[in-house]
Amino acid sequence: MQSELRAWPVFIGSEIYRGSTYGPTHPLAVPRVSTVTDLGRAMGWLPDHRFLAAPMANEDEVCRFHDRAYVRALAEAERTQMVSEAARARFRIGADGNPVYAEIYRRPMTSAGGVLLAASLTADGGTVFCPGGGTHHGRADRAAGFCYLNDPVLGILRWLDLGLSRVAYVDIDAHHGDGVQDAFAGDARVLTLSVHEAGRWPRSGAANDRAGGSARNFPVPAGFNDSEMRHVLHAAIVPLVAAHRPEAIFLQAGADGLEEDPLSRLALSNNAHIEVLEALRGLAPRLIVTGGGGYNPWTVARCWACLWATLLRVPIPPRTTSAAEAVLRTLTYNRAAGRNPPAHWFTTLRDAPREGMVRPAITALAAASLEEIV
Ligand SMILES: [Zn+2]
Repeated sequence: MQSELRAWPVFIGSEIYRGSTYGPTHPLAVPRVSTVTDLGRAMGWLPDHRFLAAPMANEDEVCRFHDRAYVRALAEAERTQMVSEAARARFRIGADGNPVYAEIYRRPMTSAGGVLLAASLTADGGTVFCPGGGTHHGRADRAAGFCYLNDPVLGILRWLDLGLSRVAYVDIDAHHGDGVQDAFAGDARVLTLSVHEAGRWPRSGAANDRAGGSARNFPVPAGFNDSEMRHVLHAAIVPLVAAHRPEAIFLQAGADGLEEDPLSRLALSNNAHIEVLEALRGLAPRLIVTGGGGYNPWTVARCWACLWATLLRVPIPPRTTSAAEAVLRTLTYNRAAGRNPPAHWFTTLRDAPREGMVRPAITALAAASLEEIV
């Protein structure tokens, strides 16, 4: 499958995301993958030879991790657009912010298929951007946190099944990467690192939670800024990842830690995401970068477009092309920030940096993560 002449990086997307919504009042009412795809094309960064359409995973592939009865319940929910009380209670479909929606089976199966393809394509090395992936809360037998399947777990398992034995998972979403951490708890092959807002749902991922040695957690306070992310990155994440000597790195680059995102109180600019990517990409010959959270349609698309440009090693110009500006101007958003969006959400991709003081709580978190615990 891995072509001898493939030009890296590859962008794996899908039209399944276009027009797909979790419902008008859900945070995932907003378009994301379709916008970043359109932006990539409008910036001239997404020629056809770089784009692959994600295939839908098949049932056996996702049952490498997931419970078959749960996967069939998702298919049934899509077919009937309903869920029984028993399935709701058992699988949390139609509960806890995990609605029954039109593509409730095909969309997660496509996200999983894209990440599985990314892992297979990179068997011998390479870099893939898969913005529809990153559903890090999904559980083997139930939906959680807007996630139905857990594509990072499936992708990492595919890498392990292909013979890899050292994988690093780095999660910079505003929420703890609980589903991935728990799937590999105690597995020395997979190091999982998560930077997330302290006290926010799912409220796991404390600094002293190491999941039997396979995890490190950085629960950061509200207001977490670019300088603080840089400190955690270079004082903790890079040395921890390097010490693991990974053959492959999976970066979950959720964009809900950005200042303008409605679901967290972190204060990052998208420069922080770019810096994390730049620091990690030389540490292993295989890299998958996915999306994750991100609930402001402008900031999530601009952030992920910047990550794709960074993977391509093309400079991000100070102003969007007129075609890219037109993509950004078509977006709507039913929150207050959507009524009068600032001009730079249309005319730029890269944010102004949000530097600040590195608070003592941050230096303490970074230092503690390097300490041996007996
Ligand atoms: Zn999140």
